[in-house]
Amino acid sequence: MILDNENNDGISFDKICPKCGVGNPDDADNCIVCDKDLEETVLFFEDEFYDIELTNDSFIEYRKNFYKTRRTGKVRVFSIDKMEKIRFGHPITRFTFNYNGKKEVYALKAENYRSLKYLMVKIGNFEE
Ligand SMILES: [Zn+2]
Repeated sequence: MILDNENNDGISFDKICPKCGVGNPDDADNCIVCDKDLEETVLFFEDEFYDIELTNDSFIEYRKNFYKTRRTGKVRVFSIDKMEKIRFGHPITRFTFNYNGKKEVYALKAENYRSLKYLMVKIGNFEE
């Protein structure tokens, strides 16, 4: 009989904290390092120029320096309520919206684009 240790022992730290980037146990409610509420995160992905977090009321950008490099520490939080003219641009995987009268454009990887679109439609804040 072969013992399967992989599934029995050890805690995996796969739940990445969007705020500080630390890996947390899958069942963590709050980040073990910065105490961010991990339950509020609806979606989190890493893209080329930014990491993006989506909660039920905010779209949050964690800006990176350059292509696939570290974060700059610059964080922008957009309230979904105040986002206007939300568009998912076919066939290009671009996500755009107006905020305080200014147009914001996010060029995303295809898989991230699809996840974001799916969840934004679920949250119910975009017009086709
Ligand atoms: Zn954290």
